[in-house]
Amino acid sequence: MRPEVLNPLFVEVDALDGVGPKMKKPLDKLGLTRVRDVAYHLPERFVTRRAIENLDEASVGEHVVVALTPTEHKSPYGRGPYRVLAQDNVGNICTLTYFGRASYTAKKLLPVGEKRWVAGRIDQYEQMLQIVHPDHVVEASDDTLTRLCEPVYALSEGLTQPRVTGLVEQALERLPELPEWIEPRQFDAEKWPAWQDALKLAHKGEHEAARERLAYDELLANSLALMLVRADNRKRKGKPLQGNGALRDKLQLPYSLTGAQARSVSEIEGDLAQETPMLRLLQGDVGAGKTVVALMGMLVAAEVGSQAALLAPTEILARQHYETLRTMAAPTGVQVALLTGRDKGKARESILMGLLDGSIDIVVGTHAIFQDSVSYKDLALVVIDEQHRFGVAQRLMLANKGKNTPHTLAMTATPIPRTLTLAQYGEMDVSRLDEMPPGRQPIDTRVVAQERLSDVADGVARHIAGGQQAYWVCPMVRENEIEDIAAAEARYASLKERFGDDVVLVHGQLKPELKDAAMERFASGQARLLIATTVIEVGVDVPAATLMVIEQAERFGLAQLHQLRGRVGRGSEKSVCLLLRGSALSETGRERLALMRETQDGFRLAEEDLRLRGGGELLGTRQSGDTPFRVASLEQITRLLPKAHDDARVLMERDGGLTGSRGEAARMLLYLFERDWGVQMLRGG
Ligand code: ADP
Ligand code: MG
Repeated sequence: MRPEVLNPLFVEVDALDGVGPKMKKPLDKLGLTRVRDVAYHLPERFVTRRAIENLDEASVGEHVVVALTPTEHKSPYGRGPYRVLAQDNVGNICTLTYFGRASYTAKKLLPVGEKRWVAGRIDQYEQMLQIVHPDHVVEASDDTLTRLCEPVYALSEGLTQPRVTGLVEQALERLPELPEWIEPRQFDAEKWPAWQDALKLAHKGEHEAARERLAYDELLANSLALMLVRADNRKRKGKPLQGNGALRDKLQLPYSLTGAQARSVSEIEGDLAQETPMLRLLQGDVGAGKTVVALMGMLVAAEVGSQAALLAPTEILARQHYETLRTMAAPTGVQVALLTGRDKGKARESILMGLLDGSIDIVVGTHAIFQDSVSYKDLALVVIDEQHRFGVAQRLMLANKGKNTPHTLAMTATPIPRTLTLAQYGEMDVSRLDEMPPGRQPIDTRVVAQERLSDVADGVARHIAGGQQAYWVCPMVRENEIEDIAAAEARYASLKERFGDDVVLVHGQLKPELKDAAMERFASGQARLLIATTVIEVGVDVPAATLMVIEQAERFGLAQLHQLRGRVGRGSEKSVCLLLRGSALSETGRERLALMRETQDGFRLAEEDLRLRGGGELLGTRQSGDTPFRVASLEQITRLLPKAHDDARVLMERDGGLTGSRGEAARMLLYLFERDWGVQMLRGG
C-alpha cells in the first residue's frame, strides 16, 4: 500500500483549481494525469525576453515583447495554419501563426485594429517576420511579460504557458514533507537540495544541483526496483531443463546459425539447465535473427516434455510469430498454437484444453495467454517480445505464477548502449546478436549538401517513375513540434506541386483518422512518396519503399537516424538513404553523418550516439526517448546511473527488506516513481 503521506500527490489533476473535464484531455496527452505528474513536469528551458519598441530592433531567433496591432485575419484554405497579420508602431508587418485549434484563441485574443502586447520568438518565413504561437497576448503590458526569466513547458493543444505555470504552482504547494532517502554522506558531499526544495528550484530557473538531485532520485528508484526483482528471482525455484537435442536436431534450417546466434543459444541452454529461473535479455537489431534463437530455447523445453509460451505486444505480431514458428518447427512434430483475445468459443476451449493436458508444446499470443482462465500443464519457459516497450519487470511478475517459476527470455530490437541496458533491465543477463545474418544488402548511405535539394527531388522522381516508393523526412527545426510541422507543411506544398497525388503527408498533429488514411495510401502503394516528421519511426513496414531522404540529418541523433534508415532495406531491392546536410555543420554533426555512412551496426551507433550527446550538443534532453525515465536526461543517466546503481546495491546488502529508517524512505521513493512492483517483491519473498 502506498504510504498515506503521498496521497495528495496521487490524486487526479482535476483536484487542482481550474481543471475541468475539458482540460483533462490536453493534460492527459502530456502524461499529466495526477498532481504528481504536474509537479514533475519540469520546464524544457527558460526564456529571457527583451522588450522592444518596434520590429526593426528584433533579430530572428530572439524572444521579444512588442506592441502589435492586428490588421487582418487569414483563415487557412486546406490544411495550412491560421494567420493574423499585425503591424508595429512604425508600420512593419509581422505574421502571427497558429496551427490547429489554437486558431480559436487567435480569433479571441487579436481583434483587428486593437493594440496588443505580444511575447514570443521572432522567426522568418518567406521574407516575412513571424511569431508562431505567441507565448502571451495581453491588452496592456504587465509584469508577466517583462519578467526576465520564465519557465517554458512542453504544451499540447488546448494549453498555454500561463495555464501550465499556474497548475505547476498549485501542485508545488501540495508537496508533502518526505524523509530523505539519499545516503547522508552522499547527500552532504553533493550539496544537493532536499527533495521539496529541489522540485521548487527546478521550476524557478536553471538550477543544476536541483535537476541533478531529481534525476538521481529517479535513477535510484529504478535501480532499486530492478534489484528487488532480481533478488526475488534468486530466491525462486524453476525447473532445470536439460534437453537431449532430439527435437533441435530435427530442424531443417536453410542456413547455419551466425556466431552470435550460436553463442546466444548456448548461453540460454546454460541458464535453462539451472534451478534458478533464467532472467535473460536477447538484444538484436531488426533482422538479426532473434526468432530462431528463441525457438531453440522453446524446443529445449519441449524436449523434456514441458511447455513454452511466447508473448507478443500486439495481435498482429503474435500472428506473425505464430506463422514463422509453426513453419520452422514443422519437421520436429512439436505442436504450436496461437491464442489471442479474439479467440472465442470452441476454438478457444480446445486450445485451453491442449495447454492443460500438455498436448500443446508452444503457445504464441498476446497477454491473453496469462489470463487467470488459462492453465498450463507445465509451463517452463516464457519468451517476451518487447519491441520498443518497457515494463519487462511487470511482465516478469505476470509470468511468476505457480509453484515453479518459469524461465524468462526477453527479446528487444532496440539496440541501446550498455548503460541504458542496465537502466532498463537492471542486472538481467544479456545476450547480444551483434552480427547480422550473411547476405544482407547494405543500405547505400550518402551525404548530400542541402543546396542540391532540386537534384534530390529529381532523384526521387526517377525512383518513383521506376515503380518504387520513398520516404522524405523533414527538417528538424529545433525542439519545437509546431515549427517542425510548419517545415513539413512547406515541404509538402512544394513537392506536391511536382508530384501531385503521389505525395502524402504525416505528422504528429494530424487527426488519427487522417494519419491512418495517409499511411494506408502509402502502404497500399497508391501514394509513392511519404513526407513526414519523425513520426514514421514507429510501426511502418513497407518493403517497396527503398529510398529514404532525411533533411538536416546532422540535427538528428544517431540512434534516431538509425531507426529512420531501418525503414528501408526491408525488401530484396537495393535501398538508398540520402542524408541532406545543412551548411552550418558542426564538428559533432559532421561526425554523426560520417558514422552513419560508415556503419549499420545499431549497437555501435547507439554507443556513439551517447558519446556524442554527452559531448554537449543536446537536442533537447527529453529526447532520452527509449529510456524508462521522465526526469533524467541521457547525459544524467550516463553520469549518475553507475552511482545510483552502486548506492542501491549497498542499500540492498545492508537492508534488503527495506525495514530500517533509510529503507522506509526508500520505499517512499519507489512509490513516488511508481516502481510499486519493486516493493511488491518484498512480500513475495
Ligand atoms: P528479428 O526477429 O531479430 O528481427 P528474424 O528472426 O525475424 O529477425 O530473422 C530475420 C530473417 O533472417 C528471417 O527471414 C530469418 O529466416 C533470417 N535468418 C535468421 N538467422 C539467419 C542466419 N543465420 N542466416 C541467414 N538468415 C537468417
Ligand atoms: Mg522479430
